[in-house]
Amino acid sequence: MSKLIQLSNSNIMDLPFAESYKIKMVELIKKSTREEREKWIKEAKYNLFNLKSENVFIDLLTDSGTGAMSDKQWSELMLGDESYAGSSSYYKMKDTIKEIFGFDYFLPTHQGRAAENVLFSVLIKQGDLIPGNSHFDTTKGHIEFRKAKAIDCTIDEAFNTTTIHPFKGNIDLDKLEKVLKNNPNEKIPLIIVTITCNSSGGQPVSMQNLKEVYALAKKYGVIVFFDSARFAENAYFIKKREKGYENKTIKEIVKEMYSYTDGMTMSSKKDAIVNIGGFIGFKDENLFKQACIYNILFEGYITYGGLAGRDINALAQGLKEGTEFDYLETRIEQVAHLGRRLEEYGVPIQLPYGGHAIFVDATKFLPDFPKEEFRAQTLAVELYLEGGVRGVEIGALLADRDPITKKNRYPKLELVRLTIPRRVYTNNHMDYVAVCLANVYERRNKIKKGLKIIYEAPIMRHFTIELDRI
Ligand SMILES: *Cc1c(COP(=O)(O)O)cnc(C)c1O
Repeated sequence: MSKLIQLSNSNIMDLPFAESYKIKMVELIKKSTREEREKWIKEAKYNLFNLKSENVFIDLLTDSGTGAMSDKQWSELMLGDESYAGSSSYYKMKDTIKEIFGFDYFLPTHQGRAAENVLFSVLIKQGDLIPGNSHFDTTKGHIEFRKAKAIDCTIDEAFNTTTIHPFKGNIDLDKLEKVLKNNPNEKIPLIIVTITCNSSGGQPVSMQNLKEVYALAKKYGVIVFFDSARFAENAYFIKKREKGYENKTIKEIVKEMYSYTDGMTMSSKKDAIVNIGGFIGFKDENLFKQACIYNILFEGYITYGGLAGRDINALAQGLKEGTEFDYLETRIEQVAHLGRRLEEYGVPIQLPYGGHAIFVDATKFLPDFPKEEFRAQTLAVELYLEGGVRGVEIGALLADRDPITKKNRYPKLELVRLTIPRRVYTNNHMDYVAVCLANVYERRNKIKKGLKIIYEAPIMRHFTIELDRI
C-alpha cells in the first residue's frame, strides 16, 4: 500500500503553462498557394506593407494596434463619453495614468508618433542632439524632420545577436556622458529611453540603468522622456531578471520605473492593447501647458486628442490589464515558444528572445549575400512565399539614407522581425511560422539574388518603397 502511494506521488507533475484567457470570438484566416503568393508579392512591388491583409495567412508585420481586446475593453466602448470637452472618458484615463505612472499631467493623442510630434514641437529645434538607446523609426523620423540628430548610446552588447545579456536595451553611461559633456547644454533638449528597445530587438532596460541615466541627466540638467510603447513588457523582464524585483508586482515595478523620468510618450497600440491611441505624460506643468498648444493644433482638444471617448475608455482598461503579470507571462511565453522552436531548427535569431517579437538575424541567415541587395527584405519576401507569413524588415531599408550624404545606411544588425500580436494567435500558429522559416533556412544556399529599389520616399521610405527582383 505504502509503495503504491509513493509511486503515484512520483508521478505528480508540475502543471504546464497555459494561457490566462479563453476565446470568445474568432476571425477566419485563409491559406493560399505559392503561385498566388508569387503573384501578390510581385503586385505589391516586393513591399510587404503593400499586400492585402486577406492575402496573408499569419500576420506578424507588427504588434501595433493588432491585439485582441478583452470583453471588459469592449464593454468600456459602450460607456464612452463623446463630449467634446471634459468627458468622463478623459477623467477615467487621467485617473488610470496617475495610478499606473504617477503623472499629474497628460495629453491624449491619436497614436505614438503624434505624441512625439506634439512633444518635439515644444522641445526640439534644428541642430539639436537627442541621445538615447536605439531610437524607434518614427522617433528618429520626427527628430530628423526637425534637422536634429538622434545619437545612439545603446550598450555594445546589443549589436551582437548571440551575446547573452539580460538588458540589451541598456544605455551605455560612458557614451551618454560623452554626449552630455562635449556639447553645449542648450543643444540637448532631452534624452529618450525606449522601453523596451524596439530597434535593438525588443530588449529591456534594467531598473538600475533607468536610475543611473536619470541621475546622469540631472547632473547635466537635461530632462528624460521614456518612449513607453512596451513599458509593461519591460517591467516583466525586470521582475524576471533583475535582483530585488522578483517579489514585486508589475504595477509596483512600473511605478518605480517612472520615478526616474520627467515624462513619457506612449503608443497605446502596444502595451495598452487597443487598436488606436497614444498619450504624453508629464511631471512638469509648464511643459504640459506648452504642449497643449500643439495638441490642440495637431490632435484635437486636450481632453480627447484625436480619439473617440470610447477609444479612451478601452485604452484606460487596457493599461490596467496590460500591467497584470498573468497577461504578460502569457504573452511573453508565446514569443519565447516561437523562439525555442526556431532555435531547435538552427535558425539564427537574436538572443535573448525579445518581449514582443523574435528577430531573425538575416546576416547570419544569408552570410554571403550582398548587403546592397537588401538581404533582410529578401528573407522576409521568401518567408511570405513559403507559407503566407508576413514579417517585417528591420534593416537597410528601414535605416533610410543618411540625411546629409544621401548614401544608403547599413545598420549593424540586419533583421527580420516576427512580431506577435497580443492575444491573437495560438502556439500552433507559432509552430507553423517556425516550420516555414526552417524550410527557407534549409534552402538558404539557393537564395542568391536580392532586390533593387525602383521608388523611394525621402523619409521613412520602407513603408511605401517599391522594389523589383534583380
Ligand atoms: C510603435 C512605436 C512608436 C510609434 O507609435 P505609433 O502608435 O505607431 O505612432 C514609437 N516608439 C516605439 C518604441 C514604438 O514601438
